[in-house]
Amino acid sequence: MKWEAVIGLEVHAQLATESKIFSSTPTRYGAEPNTQAGRIDLGYPGVLPVLNRKAVELAVRFGLAIGATIGRQSVFARKNYFYPDLPKGYQISQYDRPIVTGGGLEVVLQDGSVKPVGITRAHLEEDAGKSVHDLFPDATGIDLNRAGTPLLEIVSEPDLRSAEEAVAYLKCLHTLVRYLEICDGNMQEGSFRCDANVSVRPHGQRELATRTEIKNLNSFRFVEQAIAFEIERQTEVHEDGGTIIQETRLYDPNRRETRPLRTKEDAHDYRYFPDPDLLPLVLDEPWIQTIASSLPELPRAKRDRFMASYGLSAYDATVLTQSRALADYFETGMRARTLDPKILANWVMGEVLAGLNRDHLEIEAAPVSADELAGLLARIVDGTLSGKMAKEVFEAMWGGGGTADAVIDQKGLRQLSDTGALESVIDAVIAAHPEQWAEYCAGRDKLLGFFVGQVMQATRGQASPQLLNALIEKKRRPES
Ligand code: ADP
Ligand code: MG
Repeated sequence: MKWEAVIGLEVHAQLATESKIFSSTPTRYGAEPNTQAGRIDLGYPGVLPVLNRKAVELAVRFGLAIGATIGRQSVFARKNYFYPDLPKGYQISQYDRPIVTGGGLEVVLQDGSVKPVGITRAHLEEDAGKSVHDLFPDATGIDLNRAGTPLLEIVSEPDLRSAEEAVAYLKCLHTLVRYLEICDGNMQEGSFRCDANVSVRPHGQRELATRTEIKNLNSFRFVEQAIAFEIERQTEVHEDGGTIIQETRLYDPNRRETRPLRTKEDAHDYRYFPDPDLLPLVLDEPWIQTIASSLPELPRAKRDRFMASYGLSAYDATVLTQSRALADYFETGMRARTLDPKILANWVMGEVLAGLNRDHLEIEAAPVSADELAGLLARIVDGTLSGKMAKEVFEAMWGGGGTADAVIDQKGLRQLSDTGALESVIDAVIAAHPEQWAEYCAGRDKLLGFFVGQVMQATRGQASPQLLNALIEKKRRPES
């Protein structure tokens, strides 16, 4: 029997606010443990939460961008549970009336096809604290700095069918939240993390099978590995005639396996009820309109525009529009010089991305600006540099050598494209190899390579290959 995997993701995106969702405590990352947790964040008796307007605005931005329904009235609810990192005994979240409902993403898959993925809902909630297991040998520490940090929990429909699709969706969402500037997307710092719900059912079955939930995956690689492992594990259980228990599991990257953590709670275990300290959240139309009109060009639209106006392939356009900054870099280069977009795209996706990767830099900090790169490519187009020489110049520019022209002058790296100079070298080579020349003239075309090689050697590789080919051919057939 063939099995089908079904996956739905719950993503927690930390909203890019200065302060917490219900208090004025700062949300800065990396502060000393327990220096950024105030009385409201800790839920001291008698304190009153006050909703952060910015967090609401960012959630609305997201909802508008995915074509969702923005709840004109949404309600904060208490989700009650006991855990050491949650001293107040409940988390303020949203339950049956979230701020964002419906909408979806169009995810570009590896093979270039587009898969629509529904988004069930996105709701506002506060983060809990964090248990620290590696600071003390015999104890677990509790850092409550994160308590009260605003999160947008984005819940997908169970539309995904493989680990690869899940990762593609997650990357698409990651790109979107950064475009919208609602979340910095930093996965190492936990600003963008994901729980994966996985089940496996017989092909053709409509009902969903029992699922497990893998908690707190904080890299694309782990998401992919964990889901792939879990699909395989569940498939084996099914094939052996066993049953899957609904439970929460943890992924262990070292052993590359998931392990049970606890049996999964159902919603009724949390005893949700409307938070009596917070009024229903009511949004007015003009404010929603203001937010709508401030939305940037979204990734999908930008990608389509890159294909239409620059003639780029779907793949190139997808890579270049991965972040607004990278797309801006490309477009700045296009404006700087008249260039074939494909050449610029190749260099941005090749040399530039490789350099950034190697030096662990973001595009904003690229040592070669878009203008400077365009200046370099213009020197290929006008024949000053061969592609190979341009790479050498690029390396020097990357290392702080200045503009392309400065490096070219300083290294004396000019392709010999002066016809007269080149012709005298060719003549000398012909004179030194009369027999080969005679054979070549008699029709042994293969010898062209020999002559090109000789001239290249004599000019230390600085001759323009196109020009050289043309000149040698012209010597053989002066009349043509
Ligand atoms: P909870 O809030 O208890 O985690 P939800 O019903 O809200 O559960 O679903 C959470 C996520 O799990 C959603 O992304 C949903 O698409 C996914 N999901 C629900 N049922 C299944 C299933 N049987 N198989 C795979 N994913 C599922
Ligand atoms: Mg869940």
